Amino acid sequence: MMELKQLTEQVYYLDGPTNIGVIKDRESAILIDSGLDDSVAKKILRILEDNNLTLKTIINTHFHADHCGANNYLQQATEAEIYAYGIEAAIINYPYLEPLSFFSGANPIKDLKNKFLMAKESKVDHLLKETNIKLNFDSIEVEIIPLQGHSVNQIGVVVDGVLFCGDSIFSKKVIDKHKLLFYTDIEKQKATLEFLAETNYDCYLPSHAKATTDIRELAKVNLDCINEIEGIIFKLLESAKSTEQLLQETLAYYQVKLKSLQQYHLMKTLIMAYLSSLYNNDRIELELRDNCLYWKSIKG
Ligand SMILES: [Zn+2]
Repeated sequence: MMELKQLTEQVYYLDGPTNIGVIKDRESAILIDSGLDDSVAKKILRILEDNNLTLKTIINTHFHADHCGANNYLQQATEAEIYAYGIEAAIINYPYLEPLSFFSGANPIKDLKNKFLMAKESKVDHLLKETNIKLNFDSIEVEIIPLQGHSVNQIGVVVDGVLFCGDSIFSKKVIDKHKLLFYTDIEKQKATLEFLAETNYDCYLPSHAKATTDIRELAKVNLDCINEIEGIIFKLLESAKSTEQLLQETLAYYQVKLKSLQQYHLMKTLIMAYLSSLYNNDRIELELRDNCLYWKSIKG
């Protein structure tokens, strides 16, 4: 059951599987993300109506379906205009790009074309071409900051001292439970966490955790987890391994048993993110042998 919770005079959020920001701009509402699907969209509209608010704007932090899957319904049911940045906007416009990317650019297997990996299509009205910009609405100003790493062009939204963090940071509980959290660019994710640790907003709201006033400690826990996984992968590659072998051994190390084809592709992409980061920093090397790619740590 989603509930409207207040953070500041004009800033609220709906708590749910994905937290959704609600900014009161006079009689209108600005949403930060929209949720997974039509059923979430209907709940949002009912709550806005109960609070005499008209939906005017949706700002998506990134393209993942649990953040923009309700756009489609909301866009049809209201006059809401959608804002998104860079590549995120491209995938919100063309959701097929997500399963396509998980399947190496080939037409994806049908199992990957589900509502969790392929949101319903919506049309971005305002393509943001840069970050560190301010958007001025009737009674409030919103700042867009880069929080890349989990997703290529993820943004954070700052409003009235509150930072909506998207999936740039996870709770300690989630880290302890899952360890292998989803990132596509390890270097950018590390830079994002280092940046967050130095910020001083009044309040932070991650999409899948409770609001917090202190981000420094949580950023460190997130960063330590990434560094640990990177170290494990580097160690596993002391003997040369294919991507598939490394995936299997990393999952075994963390005692993860994959339960679906979707999870397999997410985990494989995550491993690829660690590999490209290590490779681009000249910490591992790549050899094409017998028509197979092998990764190996560089000593010294
Ligand atoms: Zn996400």
